[in-house]
Amino acid sequence: MTPAAARSVPFFSYPQLFASEEEDLVRIFTDTARKGAFILQGELEAFERNLARYTGARFAIGVANATDGLLIALRAAGIGPGDEAIFCSHTMVATAAAIHFCGAKPVAVECGPDHLIDPQAVEAAITRRTRAIVPTQLNGRTADMGALGELAARHGLGIIEDAAQALGSRFKGQAAGTFGTASAISFFPAKLLGCLGDGGAVLTSKPAIREAVLRLRDHGRGSSGEIECWGLNSRLDNIPAAILDWRLARFDASITRRRAIAQHYRKRLAGIAELVLPPGPEEDGADHFDVYQNYEIEAEQRDQLRNFLKEQGVGTLLPWGGKAVHQWPRLGLEARLPVTDRLMERVLLLPMNTFLSDLEVDYVCDQIEAFYG
Ligand SMILES: *Cc1c(COP(=O)(O)O)cnc(C)c1O
Repeated sequence: MTPAAARSVPFFSYPQLFASEEEDLVRIFTDTARKGAFILQGELEAFERNLARYTGARFAIGVANATDGLLIALRAAGIGPGDEAIFCSHTMVATAAAIHFCGAKPVAVECGPDHLIDPQAVEAAITRRTRAIVPTQLNGRTADMGALGELAARHGLGIIEDAAQALGSRFKGQAAGTFGTASAISFFPAKLLGCLGDGGAVLTSKPAIREAVLRLRDHGRGSSGEIECWGLNSRLDNIPAAILDWRLARFDASITRRRAIAQHYRKRLAGIAELVLPPGPEEDGADHFDVYQNYEIEAEQRDQLRNFLKEQGVGTLLPWGGKAVHQWPRLGLEARLPVTDRLMERVLLLPMNTFLSDLEVDYVCDQIEAFYG
C-alpha cells in the first residue's frame, strides 16, 4: 500500500497559487503598497530588466495582459488595415483577436504533428497582402523558428510571436519570444509564470519598437510626457510586477518540475497504443527545450476517456473549450482546416502544474491504463 495514494487530482488549483507562498506575497504587497508605488514604478522597471535578461531580449515592457501585448506589438510593427497576418488555428482566440483589432485580417492555418504552426501551411497561405506570421509557441514549446524565419525573410514578412505559453522554452538554444520583431508573454494565473490576476509583457530587441510599445501602453505618452499618438491604458501594475519579479527568481525550479512531470507521464503512458504523447523533454536533442505549459495528448475515444477520468476524480481540459479558432462560425474566418478539425476531436489536456505530486501523476496514469485495459 502506498501511504498517501491520491484519490482525486484536480486539473488546476487556483487557491494553491496563493497558499504555498502566502507569507512572501503578503510581505511584497505590504512593502510595495506602503511606498504608494502603484503605477509605473521601480518594481516594474526592475522586473522588466530581469525578464529581458532572462529571455535574452534587449527589452521587456510590462502590459496589462498578453492579448493587449500582441495587439500593441502588431501595431508597433506597423501591421494594420489592408494587411493579412497568418496564425495557427490551434491557439487561443486571443491570437486572432489581436490581429483583428489591429485592423488586419487574421488568416488561419493548420498545425503540424507537434500541434504547433505548420511552416508548409504558412507558405501556402502567403498572398500579396501578407505582412506578418504570428506563430503561437504552444504548450510550452517553441515552433521550428528556423523554417519560419527563412520563410519570413524570403517573403519580407515580420514575425510577431504569441509566446503567452512559452516563457523559458527554447529552439536551438534561443528563447521563445526573441525570434521576431516582438512577442507577447502572459502572466495569467495558470500560465507558467502566473500572477494574482491578469498581466503580460512585450519582448523586443529593437529600440524603435520598444519606444512605440511604451507609448501605446500608456495613452500615447512619449518620454517627455507629450502625447505622440493615440494610445491605450495597458500598463502592468506595479504590485503584480513586484510579485512577478520575486517569482521569476524562482522560475527555473518550476520548469525543472514541469519537465520531470512530463518525463513521468511519458514513462508511464508511452506504451499505450491509443495515445499520442507530446515530445518528451529529452527528445529532439538540442533543437527544442520544452517547458510544458500544458500536457496535451491525443487519445482514441477521447470523450469516453475524459468522462471516465472525471468519474475517477481526475480533472482534464479540452483546449480552447474544444474548438480551434476557425471553428467559431461567428468570427467569420471561413478557413477549411481538416487536420485541425480532426485534431480537435482527439486532444486532451492532462493535469500539468507545479503542485502535482508524483503520487498524483501515478494516479492519473493508473486511471488511463485502467480505461484502455
Ligand atoms: C493565455 C493566452 C493568451 C492570452 O493571454 P492573456 O494574458 O490572458 O491575455 C494568448 N495566446 C495564448 C496561446 C494563450 O495561451
